[in-house]
Amino acid sequence: MNTDISVNLDNIKSRIAEICHGCNRSPEEIMLVAISKMKPVEDIQAALEHGQTEFGENKVQELTQKMEQLPDDRISWHMVGQLQTNKIKYLVDRVNWIQSVPKIKALKEIEKRATAAGRNINVLLQVNISGEEQKSGCPPEQLQALLDYAANLKSVRVRGLMGMATLTEDRERIRREFALLRELRDKYKNEYDEPVTLEHLSMGMTQDMDIAIEEGATMIRVGTAIFGARPCQVNPGVST
Ligand SMILES: *Cc1c(COP(=O)(O)O)cnc(C)c1O
Repeated sequence: MNTDISVNLDNIKSRIAEICHGCNRSPEEIMLVAISKMKPVEDIQAALEHGQTEFGENKVQELTQKMEQLPDDRISWHMVGQLQTNKIKYLVDRVNWIQSVPKIKALKEIEKRATAAGRNINVLLQVNISGEEQKSGCPPEQLQALLDYAANLKSVRVRGLMGMATLTEDRERIRREFALLRELRDKYKNEYDEPVTLEHLSMGMTQDMDIAIEEGATMIRVGTAIFGARPCQVNPGVST
């Protein structure tokens, strides 16, 4: 079981190198975030022992439990799932990245709680690039208002944008959605300064990481290809 995880990690890294080679990018530009949702802490431990340090979860309760069970300073924890404002307080003591911030209310709460805890939190603003109603993220036309708000915060660093493509076989559609996220990032990157730096684009999962890297991803969020299939494949864009 655990050997599978190290083999899978090696395979993913070769794959990233291959994709980067094909589009003239350097693999060093790509941060691999291992999405360990619904997987036991033993699997995270196995990946950690194989050098993987970035881990992501999509539910606050599961993430806080795992952060407690694995108090290891080598790990950088990412929250990647739908964010309920009233649960942010459980995250700020330990989480390093909150990738799924869709609205000003959430930014305000992270600022308040992180300031009280004396921490800085790296944030990505989640944009709804698929246009599907059930996917979370702010509509592209509301992004500027979030950026303006974040520009005045002290404990929140907006390091980039996060997006999820439509679950579809239509690879050209996926490509257009990722390109949209990159265009939004490029558009705003030079208009803002610390603490809004926008150097990151988190896009791409097991199925579409190749397209995402070709379209400029600097973070890919990979679960299945590292840890194997999950018991019940629910639509990752919709959390309950
Ligand atoms: C589950 C999940 C992933 C990883 O999906 P895989 O298809 O297993 O690679 C990435 N991002 C988010 C937000 C997720 O919920």
